[in-house]
Amino acid sequence: MIPAAFDYTRPSTVDEAVAALAAAGEDAKVLAGGQSLLPLLRLRLAAPTVLVDLGGIAELRGVREDGDDLVIGAMTTHATVLHDPLVAEHAPLLAQATATVADRQVRHLGTFGGSLAHADPASDLPAVAVAMDAVLEIAGPGGRRTVPASEFFVDYLTSAVGAGEVLTAVRVPKYGGWTSHYEKFNRTAQAWALVGVAALVRRSNGSIAEARVGLTNMGPRPLRASGVESALAGAAAERGAVAAAAAHATDGAEPSSDLNASAEYRSHLAKVLTERAVLAALG
Ligand SMILES: Cc1cc2nc3c(=O)[nH]c(=O)nc-3n(C[C@H](O)[C@H](O)[C@H](O)COP(=O)(O)OP(=O)(O)OC[C@H]3O[C@@H](n4cnc5c(N)ncnc54)[C@H](O)[C@@H]3O)c2cc1C
Repeated sequence: MIPAAFDYTRPSTVDEAVAALAAAGEDAKVLAGGQSLLPLLRLRLAAPTVLVDLGGIAELRGVREDGDDLVIGAMTTHATVLHDPLVAEHAPLLAQATATVADRQVRHLGTFGGSLAHADPASDLPAVAVAMDAVLEIAGPGGRRTVPASEFFVDYLTSAVGAGEVLTAVRVPKYGGWTSHYEKFNRTAQAWALVGVAALVRRSNGSIAEARVGLTNMGPRPLRASGVESALAGAAAERGAVAAAAAHATDGAEPSSDLNASAEYRSHLAKVLTERAVLAALG
């Protein structure tokens, strides 16, 4: 199908993008890799009057170190994240989860920032951002602000990025001394997760000192599995203790039922995949 008519602008700085959004009004939309937005336009589920394409803004691309954090530009593609040496060294969980996103073509166009701003509960990277305590940097008419990942995902397809604002970068803490794993279950024909689990663990003397666990598609927003994290803290790094902790994976979750899976099946998957992800993270 052919999208409804829209005007198109391609600014070269963040300030120009914010000004273009302000000038265009509430029916304007930001275009990143287009991998989620263009299908919506073609189906006419979205009909913005103006598209502000961020593709010409060099400062939104790339990965750099800043002290204890990596700063990843919002327009950095999945493919770049996947092959970046800094991500491999300091945030291997992000690289591993990104490798499971879609296929090669989508990963070459789709962006890290677009995936988070879109806030689809079936997307893999929001749960990783939540588990890693990432911080999102946003620019808008009122200036620049930061939002922790725990507050960024507001509801189904709704993030903290307001009308007229642009997500500019994602600040990901380095997890030196931690090990990690992203485990997901998906239909063979599609990479979209029925459920996914992002796990990071820090060992100390044969026990689990700390754990971080994020869940994909167990509600309208990515979830931190705090019940699992509490049960893992101080537990022995062995299968029985991990299985007992994984039983808490559905605490506070609100999985939906759809054509792909019932809520009960998602709950079952969350426990099984949490156990697998934590055991894999423990090596
Ligand atoms: C066939 C297919 C399979 C896929 N499979 C998976 C999968 O298995 N796992 C997965 O996680 N994802 C999957 N995706 C989604 C993919 O990861 C997309 O890249 C991602 O959802 C959106 O990124 P984008 O850069 O293309 O954003 P766009 O489509 O350009 O934008 C998406 C939304 O975010 C907004 N937006 C984007 N960037 C910004 C910004 N910087 N500031 C403010 N708002 C912004 C846009 O206005 C729009 O509303 C799949 C997509 C396709 C087409």
